[in-house]
Amino acid sequence: MYEVAVEQEFDAAHYLRGYQGKCENVHGHRFRVVARVRAKETDDIGMAYDFTRLRQQLGQVVGRFDHVCLNDTPPFDKINPSSENIASTIFTELQPILTGTGFSLSNIQVWESPHSSVTYFPEGE
Ligand SMILES: [Zn+2]
Repeated sequence: MYEVAVEQEFDAAHYLRGYQGKCENVHGHRFRVVARVRAKETDDIGMAYDFTRLRQQLGQVVGRFDHVCLNDTPPFDKINPSSENIASTIFTELQPILTGTGFSLSNIQVWESPHSSVTYFPEGE
């Protein structure tokens, strides 16, 4: 089994609705997103999943979150832009645009600060 990972960053503002504390006020983060793809085997040139392709595909998903207030950007105009919801949203949007067979999107990890992250795995993993 192989696990291929790429990471991307985006800068965004957010605030947490219903949270009692500092995070209910608008503030910014440099969010770091790690996407991991699992493959049982490599292809005929020895690769499990092309880093470049995965980075482009992750970029397609997270691009619209860069330099915005997440609370104004769907789906976070309706659901809280917590790191948990950011991770599950990226997972749900990235999974269908991965191309090819023989692999699966394993998880999405979102770092909200250098010391705090959340990882979303699909149910049953
Ligand atoms: Zn925050």
